Amino acid sequence: MGAGPDKLETPSPLIGVLALQGAFEAHATRLRELDARTLLVRTPSQLSDIDALVIPGGESTTFLKHLDRGGFFDLLKTFVEQKPTFGTCAGAILLAANVVHPHQQSLAALDITIERNFYGRQNDSRILQTPTTLPGGPLETVYIRAPRITLTGPGVETLATRDGDATLVRQGHLLAATFHPELSPDTRVHKLFLQMVRDASTT
Ligand code: GLN
Repeated sequence: MGAGPDKLETPSPLIGVLALQGAFEAHATRLRELDARTLLVRTPSQLSDIDALVIPGGESTTFLKHLDRGGFFDLLKTFVEQKPTFGTCAGAILLAANVVHPHQQSLAALDITIERNFYGRQNDSRILQTPTTLPGGPLETVYIRAPRITLTGPGVETLATRDGDATLVRQGHLLAATFHPELSPDTRVHKLFLQMVRDASTT
């Protein structure tokens, strides 16, 4: 609010994209197309270089295996509690307070319950136009073995839905999508995240 597209005043924030596995390249490309500075994050020490983070889709269990070394999990948990973070699909699963089907460890930062693999197998993946509160009409959403958000806490805002279930949610500095906005030409979700990052850097 009030902080317009003022490119000259401060250096633009550095957005990390967690690059342990999964769909990180498409996120980095999309962010660069929107003039963001990006860093592919592969080690825990890189977390101290970035202002915000995208946790991409992939396989949440594989992420957990990669994070189980060098104190990465604990440092990431501290990061997401404080800094703007956007999780997509497996990234949303990692951010969730509660993961079911089956239950697994998570960063437990975002007050949602999420059910893994609800929307079927890889070959049941879908592209749908779905309702959203973002200005500009229905949102193209790409689902790949997507989870379903089954519960949202009182501080969680629902920004898009599929069949009445939340698919894009925000809680303060955290944003999560059960779909893959980096695979759609529609840039509204990444623009929203960049706005959240700018807002965080001016407060
Ligand atoms: N099914 C994956 C999981 O449970 C998520 C799929 C995705 O990120 N596209 O982690």
